[in-house]
Amino acid sequence: MSETIFSKIINREIAADIVFENDRILAFRDINPQAPVHVLVIPKKPIPTINAIDPEDVALIGELFIAARQIAAEEGIDESGYRTVFNCNRDGGQEVYHLHLHLLGGRAMQWPPG
Ligand code: AMP
Repeated sequence: MSETIFSKIINREIAADIVFENDRILAFRDINPQAPVHVLVIPKKPIPTINAIDPEDVALIGELFIAARQIAAEEGIDESGYRTVFNCNRDGGQEVYHLHLHLLGGRAMQWPPG
């Protein structure tokens, strides 16, 4: 498995603004935020894309959303609303091949996305 910038953040080889961590999950602010709140919620397990999610990962994927929900409340965007996004591969706009859930809020989102 090739190392990504996110595995370096998990291993504390590079810095990030971490907002949540437990044994299985890490969440940190996106370095190039697309909204007033833009947090990336990632499994510590290096799953490259949605396509590589295994049935044994079902609980882990659910935990990403439980963490996102908690972070949204802490950031004060749970009532105003927010968007969660997984990008997958080239056409999905994925740049970092370590699964990550974008949590975006603090402004009105557009639909459809570009
Ligand atoms: P994606 O295009 O879905 O793969 O999203 C990758 C995201 O990672 C982008 O929104 C980047 O701004 C973000 N990103 C890249 N490097 C870092 C970093 N070192 N710390 C925080 N966010 C990063």
